[in-house]
Amino acid sequence: MRLILLGPPGSGKGTQANLLQEKFEIPKISTGDILRAAVKDNTELGKQAKNSMDKGELVPDDIVIGLIKERIVEPDCSVGFILDGFPRTIVQAEKLEETLAAMEQDIDLVADLVVDRDELLIRLAGRSTCKNCGAMFHQTSHPPKVEGVCDECGGELYQRPDDNEETIVKRQDIYNRETAPLKDFYRKRGKLKSIQGRGGMDEIFSNLCKMVT
Ligand code: ADP
Ligand code: ZN
Repeated sequence: MRLILLGPPGSGKGTQANLLQEKFEIPKISTGDILRAAVKDNTELGKQAKNSMDKGELVPDDIVIGLIKERIVEPDCSVGFILDGFPRTIVQAEKLEETLAAMEQDIDLVADLVVDRDELLIRLAGRSTCKNCGAMFHQTSHPPKVEGVCDECGGELYQRPDDNEETIVKRQDIYNRETAPLKDFYRKRGKLKSIQGRGGMDEIFSNLCKMVT
């Protein structure tokens, strides 16, 4: 199964990708996670990406395309993969299509998580993530049992530097401008399915599972 999760920042792509990865035992590839790890380790890639990320802007296409090309040829991807946060522009989608075609592969499904704007802003502003395992929590809808501590692994929780109000609004605008056109791109190819992203994460996950199996 080769799956793309589409949807605006805060729509729950990361959470759903984690759940899918566990249930179907196929790797999730999150360009956001890869880039954040590079920034943390202060690698050459991290230095190139940090500035755009902090501002809530997109990292240049050729950088993320390069990352994905390297990642999807790794052996664990032979069973398929879940893309979370990629592609985010038409150019990225075209390059992905080209790369997969050269490997005689194709995307099976693009799941578009639909959530309205007000809800997105609330979710992002209250969100925190585990430094250690990547589990996600929310102040009101899904608080950790102990403040600042991950329920899953006891790791430390942190708020992403780009989850502040100004940057959140900018990320939504960029999504609408650069990424939303991908819906048409995949609709034309008969691969797009929309899924209601409101409600609890378990409910959304069960709808998503019905869709992919
Ligand atoms: P979000 O919650 O905004 O969906 P992500 O974790 O997917 O966050 O991405 C965080 C940041 O990493 C983005 O704002 C952007 O700067 C960068 N990024 C991630 N994926 C891509 C991509 N496919 N193309 C360009 N930039 C990306
Ligand atoms: Zn954790």
